[in-house]
Amino acid sequence: MNQKLILNEILKNSPISRAALSEITGLNKSTVSSQVNELIEKNLIFEIGAGQSSGGRRPVMLVFNKNAGYSIGIDIGVDYLNGILTDLEGNIILEKASDLSSPSAGEVKEILFALIHDFIIHMPDSPYGLVGIGICVPGLVDSNQKIIFMPNLEWYIEDLQLLIESEFNVPVFVENEANAGACGEKVFGVTKNYENIIYISINVGIGVGIIINNELYKGVNGFSGEMGHMTIDFNGPKCSCGNRGCWELYASEKALLDSFSNDEKNMSRKEIVERANKNDVAVLNALQNFGFYVSIGLTNILNTFDAQAIILRNNIIESHPIVLNTIKNEVSSRVNSHLESMCELLPSSLGRNAPALGAVSIVMEHFLNVTTS
Ligand SMILES: [Zn+2]
Repeated sequence: MNQKLILNEILKNSPISRAALSEITGLNKSTVSSQVNELIEKNLIFEIGAGQSSGGRRPVMLVFNKNAGYSIGIDIGVDYLNGILTDLEGNIILEKASDLSSPSAGEVKEILFALIHDFIIHMPDSPYGLVGIGICVPGLVDSNQKIIFMPNLEWYIEDLQLLIESEFNVPVFVENEANAGACGEKVFGVTKNYENIIYISINVGIGVGIIINNELYKGVNGFSGEMGHMTIDFNGPKCSCGNRGCWELYASEKALLDSFSNDEKNMSRKEIVERANKNDVAVLNALQNFGFYVSIGLTNILNTFDAQAIILRNNIIESHPIVLNTIKNEVSSRVNSHLESMCELLPSSLGRNAPALGAVSIVMEHFLNVTTS
């Protein structure tokens, strides 16, 4: 316990002296000293400043060894795959993204294995090597990390964790994409000092990740945050989930694309943003509608959670201000002003890497827990 506490403070405040650690943690100096020695032996921290005498006496400071090991995070989307290799502070060493178009389970396995092998080949030498792999998927993942349901996908591998663990012999964690994204923003994003945040991922569908009092809220079975399926119109069209008039039928990226005329339905996100930048009226209208529909669900979420921040993860929202501005105007006209003024509406600061970084944060938390206990 003490060792973990000390390591956490070094992580937050690096570089830090033994005396400052003792002050912050309330542990006596000999306890701090013996735990610090163990952490140095474990290669998790190192000393700087020793022996530098010019300019007066400098205290020996302790620094977290971010290169003690490496972690892999992979976000498997409906039509993309995004992988990162990071050090133990979540700094990205390598990044690989590719488009997926309705792959089979066999193809997904092949692409995943090739990507992980490639990262391992390019990983720098380190005391711990690869400490784990985090994977996230756009579907229901239960509390045993089994994939239960993936609504928008052709492929399905229930025990992805076991499959990857038996190939690479490192701890593997599988998480829902929106939950992972929320963890990413909480650990590495601009909201890392916030305790209560809601992360909304708008893609082919809509997923929500909920952080309450610094903890991911997963629900009893791990299925919380399926707010893409909250009812916006009780007489609305039938959704694949069984309900009618679900939010994601109106406010997802798929709904946005469907709103364009036939020959424009296959526009890329990049093309949409380019045309918006050129003041293409049809695209600007479509984006304004998109923002309107997003704001309807957001109003419900704001009223439910009273969070410090709501983070919107979507390539178009992050690249062109019209959607976010429409959302802000619409939400402020619908939500009680006290509630609205207290909650920040922010585009994701981590962008498309948010879920993969969140998967990495889960790996790192496990690694630091295991190595300090
Ligand atoms: Zn639905």
